[in-house]
Amino acid sequence: MTDPEILKKAIEKAEVNGFAGGDVHMDKDEEGVIEHCIETGLYASIIFSHDFAKAFWGELILCKTCRTEIHSPVSGSNEYIGDCDHFKIENRGSNGDGSIRGWGNLIIEWEYYLQQMVLEEEPLKYLRKYL
Ligand SMILES: [Zn+2]
Repeated sequence: MTDPEILKKAIEKAEVNGFAGGDVHMDKDEEGVIEHCIETGLYASIIFSHDFAKAFWGELILCKTCRTEIHSPVSGSNEYIGDCDHFKIENRGSNGDGSIRGWGNLIIEWEYYLQQMVLEEEPLKYLRKYL
């Protein structure tokens, strides 16, 4: 797969999940636009944007070690439900302090993959693995 093909497919995947182009306004189906994005480096401002990453990889919260999903049942709340050996909410209830063990062991999917991609010399090749 060529770089333009990777970029086009990656944008299409993100669009399915609600990505609307972020700050970069372009019609990916217009002839030559994708190639132009590659040649000028403009593609980087698309694939490294948070909007793109959220749509491309998703926003689940996972245990970094075993990939158990940690839920927050109410969006925006500080309550999390998830149970694996690496993540526990200890002493919940009236007598406990509700402390969370293993907090640093959690990842948000898109943040994790975005951080990995930043380290890649060829980020498009990295994206290709997740198409
Ligand atoms: Zn775990």
